[in-house]
Amino acid sequence: MTATQVNGLAVMADEPTLSPITGPNGAPIYWRQTRTLLLEDETKVFGCVHCDYTADNPHKVRPHLKVHREPEPEPAAGLYDLPLSDLLARVAELEKLTADRDTWKRRALKAERSLATMRRALNT
Ligand SMILES: [Zn+2]
Repeated sequence: MTATQVNGLAVMADEPTLSPITGPNGAPIYWRQTRTLLLEDETKVFGCVHCDYTADNPHKVRPHLKVHREPEPEPAAGLYDLPLSDLLARVAELEKLTADRDTWKRRALKAERSLATMRRALNT
């Protein structure tokens, strides 16, 4: 939260801070994260909108704002992040599954043929 006291002085007013930039049609643009604080001794300081950091100059607040930036999210672990040994283990597992599937497929075809032979024998 923005400071409510600076060096023991109460903040009397907390206002938006006008930036030196103007928008289209000369409309004023305000900093979104820098507040202008009027202290009880009528001095002005500039405060961070997120915490009680203050500075005598709005340009000092800007570099401070990076402490509030969200850290970059960790990318989800994908195949590219796996160590080579893990990748090889996965390939081996896949090959085994494929081999199992082929074995079962051969057995199924063989059983089907046996069944067909038995059917033919019974029909004759
Ligand atoms: Zn801050």
